[in-house]
Amino acid sequence: MDTKLSFTLKVVKELLNHGFSVDLRQKENIDGYGGWFGDDEGEEEFVVAMKHPMSFEILIHEYCHFLQWKTDRPFWNSTIEDYDTLFNWINDKTLNVSEEDLDKSFNCILSIEHDCEKRVLRLVKNNPIEDFDIDKYKRAVNAYLWSYHINRELRIRPVRPIYSDRVMSHMPISFYNDLSYYLDKNNLTDEMRQALLLEYEINSSDD
Ligand SMILES: [Zn+2]
Repeated sequence: MDTKLSFTLKVVKELLNHGFSVDLRQKENIDGYGGWFGDDEGEEEFVVAMKHPMSFEILIHEYCHFLQWKTDRPFWNSTIEDYDTLFNWINDKTLNVSEEDLDKSFNCILSIEHDCEKRVLRLVKNNPIEDFDIDKYKRAVNAYLWSYHINRELRIRPVRPIYSDRVMSHMPISFYNDLSYYLDKNNLTDEMRQALLLEYEINSSDD
């Protein structure tokens, strides 16, 4: 069994061997993000904010993006191409993007993220990690995947982390291997939706 530290060291070594720069920064977030995996040629990078409350979960998630890139390049390339369309449309309200292109981007995002989560869950099953809370991870996965429906519907992003206790307590610990479950908005319950919306509202009080 790995500890979080021994697993992290293995990940760092593997990334360095593949020419990635590894930036494990002692911060709660970096430009509002908990971390990312970047495959731009010549600027390959792996970044995690190590003081984020979910830093290890972020690290293992980003590592599984690396595994997608490493082991299934056609899938990675085909989905990453349209990944940014939805984010650009959300960030720039002057942009006109067709529903068709938004659908395409949305489907790409959910399929790449859902596949990534499947890899994480498979990895921790085959290679257990001490003190890794799988139920907590699955709650976070639900919060994460469902939040994209709200991003798309309201053309906004959450203003606070969606992994707050008040959100997580309303998320199920079930994970569906079938992507179509998460593409179907009817499976987002009212309870989950209301919980997620708390982190999108600018004026909601933080207690
Ligand atoms: Zn991801």
